[in-house]
Amino acid sequence: MVLGILKEAAGENRVAMLPGEAAAAKKSGIEVIIENGAGERSFAYDCDYIAVGASTGDRKTVIEKSDMLLSVNPPAGDFREGQVLCSVLNPVENRAWIESARSKGLTVLALDLIPRTTRAQAMDILSSMATVSGYKAVLHAASLLPRFFPMFMSAAGTIRPAKVLILGAGVAGLQAIAIARKLGASVEVFDVRSAVKEEVKSLGGKFIEVEGALEDASAGGYAVEQTEEFKRKQQELIQQRAEAADVIIATAQIPGKKAPLLILKETVKKMKPGSVIIDLAASTGGNCELTKNGDTIVVNNITIVGKSDYPSDMPSDASKMFGSNVLNLLKILIDREGRLNVNLEDEIIAGTTAVHNGCYMSQRLKQMLNIQ
Ligand code: NAD
Repeated sequence: MVLGILKEAAGENRVAMLPGEAAAAKKSGIEVIIENGAGERSFAYDCDYIAVGASTGDRKTVIEKSDMLLSVNPPAGDFREGQVLCSVLNPVENRAWIESARSKGLTVLALDLIPRTTRAQAMDILSSMATVSGYKAVLHAASLLPRFFPMFMSAAGTIRPAKVLILGAGVAGLQAIAIARKLGASVEVFDVRSAVKEEVKSLGGKFIEVEGALEDASAGGYAVEQTEEFKRKQQELIQQRAEAADVIIATAQIPGKKAPLLILKETVKKMKPGSVIIDLAASTGGNCELTKNGDTIVVNNITIVGKSDYPSDMPSDASKMFGSNVLNLLKILIDREGRLNVNLEDEIIAGTTAVHNGCYMSQRLKQMLNIQ
């Protein structure tokens, strides 16, 4: 099997596989060809790939020679029928791209559709990237905050620890709790899933519970849309806690839907001057009413950062995790002779295959896009 690694468009610093993982792929019998300069923004150069036995070429050559093309984001290019493309898909945003790939007879593997099961844990790119986001979001907030995170007792008096409010305790939120606690902040946390309560506590966060949350066992561990009554109660409680907070890290999302609106304009107005909101849900509409995706704004002396692409700001380790997750997926995609085999009887592959032979495959994708 020949695996082509494509260069990302401007604005994305990650590469889908670093030389270390390319070397491991080679050992499993996979030929790797990388588009010239694809790793540069992640500090991996063509010579590093060549040193581990990969080859390089321009985009046209990589596409021509490859059975499967790997990238971080859905790629542009002149692909041929039957070719397999593998990237993060963001189905709701890339509906037209998916439809075009389907009509050309391409097979698309969506790394963000990999089922969140124990067996698939080592391939879970969403968790890896959320770990990077949670970490970076806290560091970014700490650098913007005009106050300390930890408590200080010095001859100049006592400085109280910063109060960090975390909305959503998924993978990014839990990482944010851990880092904020390591920096010495006191941390409060909201989530609609009661299952995370113990994890929040064990990381040293205080879980704020709003009664009456809807949970759905069939949602695969994800949150579901809440009732109007719950939303009102939650907003009131969030407003109270936000007034006391120095930092809010907002991570709440519902897969395939707009992010829940948790911080209203009025809440922002009541926050302390100098406070910081980092909205990781910016790309799916934001948890804060004032968030501007991809932008940092200051309203009433509150800094609001609308940013969902922190992994691109930490491209070395983000790419390392990305490539290593992909490598684990490749292990179930090739047969003993090293040939590519999209075996739809494997539940992970079936869940990850967005389109194949001109048809929409993944049930979750069909739900997200409302396809019968
Ligand atoms: P996510 O990015 O979809 O959402 C982030 C968090 O926001 C979630 O915890 C969600 O409950 C919360 N949220 C949604 N609406 C909210 C609201 N109105 N108010 C407050 N919080 C709200 O989540 P994620 O990080 O991708 O992970 C979701 C879950 O998936 C995990 O916690 C876990 O159950 C499951 N998961 C399983 C595996 C595995 O077994 N391999 C790996 C990772 C995650």
